[in-house]
Amino acid sequence: MPPQPPAATPVLATRLIRAIFGCYFVVAAALTAVQLAVEYGDAHDHLQRDVAALERTFGPGLEDAVWRFNGEVLRGILAGMREIPAVVGVEVRDEKGRRVEAVGAVAEADSGAASPTRVGGLGTRFSRRFDLVHVDETGRRYPVGSWTVFSDTGIAIEQVRRTLVVILINSAIKTVMLWFIFVAVIRWMVGRPLAQVAAHLARMDRETLAEPLVLRGGGRHELHALVAALNATTDRLRRAFEERNALTHDLTEMNATLQARVAARTRELEALAATDQLTGLPNRRRLDAALDEALAAEAGSGLAVIVCDVDQFKAVNDQHGHTVGDAVLGGIAGILAQAQGPGDTVGRWGGEEFMLVCPGADLAAARARAEALRVRIEASALPFVGPRTCSFGVAARRPGEAVDGLVARADAALYRAKRNGRNRVEIEESIEARDAA
Ligand code: GH3
Ligand code: MG
Ligand code: MG
Repeated sequence: MPPQPPAATPVLATRLIRAIFGCYFVVAAALTAVQLAVEYGDAHDHLQRDVAALERTFGPGLEDAVWRFNGEVLRGILAGMREIPAVVGVEVRDEKGRRVEAVGAVAEADSGAASPTRVGGLGTRFSRRFDLVHVDETGRRYPVGSWTVFSDTGIAIEQVRRTLVVILINSAIKTVMLWFIFVAVIRWMVGRPLAQVAAHLARMDRETLAEPLVLRGGGRHELHALVAALNATTDRLRRAFEERNALTHDLTEMNATLQARVAARTRELEALAATDQLTGLPNRRRLDAALDEALAAEAGSGLAVIVCDVDQFKAVNDQHGHTVGDAVLGGIAGILAQAQGPGDTVGRWGGEEFMLVCPGADLAAARARAEALRVRIEASALPFVGPRTCSFGVAARRPGEAVDGLVARADAALYRAKRNGRNRVEIEESIEARDAA
């Protein structure tokens, strides 16, 4: 089962948004602070101007009311002034500094000083004093007192506070909306293609290497460059796989050919190792193996051995040379090979001696076979030398007897055949006869 692609997570989008909004908050806070400072400056100036403008509006009326000692008009004017937002209090004093009339919050000290008096809260109380001067028809000036307007910078702060609330609500709504929009856009533009790349990589194996990844959604940006590089890499990988497969295939074929050659050569060498070079018959090694095999398979069915030695062979060598001797050995080997029975093994035992291993044959059968061979050889014309003869020794295996004993008895029989005049077949001596001798 191919590994599952990791589940798409909004981690990247969220992290990006956090970073972006972190910066956004710092910048927005700094800009808001500047904006509030400017707003406060404006509101403060406005307040000062409003207070200053009061003299033009109310100065003449107040002067007239004080000049005429008209308390009712004075109180009416002061009550009207109190309604103005910039005004927190107004007091009127006579020319000797005594308070004549006052409304709202005014300085407690009866000094008539115009210096600002700090009060609690965020704002600072400040005042503005204006002289009351009566000018008659002749232009003479009579100081009749003064009036003082009290205001508070808290009024400007209150205006700024409202602006701040609007800014905060505005920012909060903007932030929430932008957050969701940004997350959606980043997930769509970055998260989705990245998840596609991850899924593609997760299910990549030898079969899917050839399929290039095509990003869903258009556009050309770094992710497309990344995918193009990925496709180029997988293509190189696929070609490397193909080359490797071809190489492996070649190597496998080469290996099979080599193995076949080695096996054939091994068979050749094995055959060579078991074959006598001169006669082409099984050699002594092979005969030893055939004896062992026959002995192992015997199990009471009988096993006989015939040894055959060319008579007076030395004379052949002496009279005709070694090469002719070799040819004579080859001729006799051919006769023996042709005459061998099924299941028999005929081989060269050494020099001018041959052996027949006859599994399943008893002494009589083996003797008959040796006799037939003797007659056949005697009747055959051998190369350069005409007919030659061979002597034979025959032995059948006795129960429990080992190969060495069997062969030694066949050899002993052969020896007797030589002694008794050659060109004859002798069988092993019976135990009784040997004991008698
Ligand atoms: P006998 O009848 O008693 O067996 O006499 P023989 O001459 O055959 O026996 P002997 O053991 O005296 O001589 C055997 C000779 O066989 C001696 C040796 O040079 C010869 N001989 C053995 N192997 C080869 C061979 O491969 N090629 C040839 N040309 N001669 C061989
Ligand atoms: Mg010999
Ligand atoms: Mg001989």
